[in-house]
Amino acid sequence: MGSRQVTSWQDKNITVAGLGVSGISAARALAGLGAVVTVVDNGDGDAHRARAAELAAEGITVRLGRLADGGHAGEVLPGGTELVVTSPGWKPDSPLFEAAAKAGVDVVGDVEIAWLLREVGQERRAAAGEPLRAPAPWLAITGTNGKTTTTQMLASILKAAGLRTAAVGNIGTPIIDVVLGEQEYDVLAVELSSYQLHWAPSLRVHSAAVLNLAPDHLDWHGSMQAYAADKGRIYEGNTVACVYNVADPATEELVVEADVEEGCRAIGFTLGAPGPSMLGVVDGILVDRAFVENRRKNAQELAEVTDVNPPAPHNIANALAAAALARAFGVEPRAVRDGLRDFRPDAHRVAYVDEVDSVTYIDDSKATNTHAAEASLAAFEPVVWIAGGLAKGATFDELVQNAAKRLRGAVLIGADRALIAEALARHAPEVPVVDLDRTDTGAMLAAVREAAALAEPGDTVLLAPACASMDMFANYNKRGDAFADAVRELAAENAADTA
Ligand code: ADP
Repeated sequence: MGSRQVTSWQDKNITVAGLGVSGISAARALAGLGAVVTVVDNGDGDAHRARAAELAAEGITVRLGRLADGGHAGEVLPGGTELVVTSPGWKPDSPLFEAAAKAGVDVVGDVEIAWLLREVGQERRAAAGEPLRAPAPWLAITGTNGKTTTTQMLASILKAAGLRTAAVGNIGTPIIDVVLGEQEYDVLAVELSSYQLHWAPSLRVHSAAVLNLAPDHLDWHGSMQAYAADKGRIYEGNTVACVYNVADPATEELVVEADVEEGCRAIGFTLGAPGPSMLGVVDGILVDRAFVENRRKNAQELAEVTDVNPPAPHNIANALAAAALARAFGVEPRAVRDGLRDFRPDAHRVAYVDEVDSVTYIDDSKATNTHAAEASLAAFEPVVWIAGGLAKGATFDELVQNAAKRLRGAVLIGADRALIAEALARHAPEVPVVDLDRTDTGAMLAAVREAAALAEPGDTVLLAPACASMDMFANYNKRGDAFADAVRELAAENAADTA
């Protein structure tokens, strides 16, 4: 699939796969440009029907559920389709895309559409009185873990530099709505998932970072190679900097393989002392040896490690990646520091909950895979680890091997806890393990009590499940809330005991 410039959307026959937030945004935007839009979705519950009725009133056709001929709406390519726009979550081997391939019809995602509509957005805002300018450059971020945090840190730094910006992509307002909206931006901080990159063939951003690469979503991509290749697409055509993780050579390999614009530089970030063309850490200071005069000899101080919230190692890596992209865009060192100081992470990401009996309780419910849990375990010692849930096919040997020496104990919950128990028995047989065989709503309180019993003063109790939450909770937010509630309950019990 080569890059294409769609010059006219008028009367173009477009099928949008999925009646979710991103599908609705794409359908409305394209219909607004004169395209003939059909949205298809296999669901046809009440919520789907209500949304369909709204779109139908705007002249958009919606096909839901089972079709008259017995097929499913989301699997059948409507006749005359010239382009398919997919939503995140639809697998590449979905029957709809197979039908599109057979018919010689391109499939693209919301990010590709947003990218192609950037000029349209500028023209619209010019018509509303803004000066006509080139579209805002994109600074893009992907990786297995840390995308949202890093994108928000970057937006915070850009704001501190006085730039009009927003954190978009896999976060917040659908990116098509941002590109076409009233608000003019100087630069966008764009989080991109591997799915979005897969379906965005003509994306060519100013600068991009791949934070890390660990096996995840392999069921969607088919293989680690395919997953890495999709992540690597973010570097294609970069004009100023390709930012990679020195500690994760696979990210650097993706830079080597990418076709970039003449003069684009490879910039590493490291938790150690940086070499030339890197950002890193020296004596508790984040320093830049990439965007400075005479980088062989000089380094520029950007911020202190304690300016990063929270200052856990993986998060300092995120801050360095965000700083690298900001510096590639020409942001001054002081704004990097101010933006990092202003930044507050979203809930359930290594969030401090409370201290009870000299033990600190930390909620990292968002650590839904082993790579994320390993990163947050590395930030605490000694640590009582609360883990378990749905393993999604993961293995826990490497995680347990790397964390073993920090573990005071482990409390296991959830459907796949036996997998973690086995890994602990293999690699950390001396670590006490409590295997909680319950999935009721009180299970988290029981887990916290068990963890409190294992912990000694000065320890940390860390919820970093390394698993998805859906076996016991609606989502990772609810799991984190249950943990925080349980810690509060524990604190109240303690206060009552000592009163
Ligand atoms: P994403 O958007 O990629 O899911 P988030 O910023 O929401 O990433 O962080 C998700 C979780 O991943 C965090 O709760 C933390 O456990 C872990 N994490 C964050 N940054 C990193 C990193 N650089 N390396 C490894 N794990 C990380």
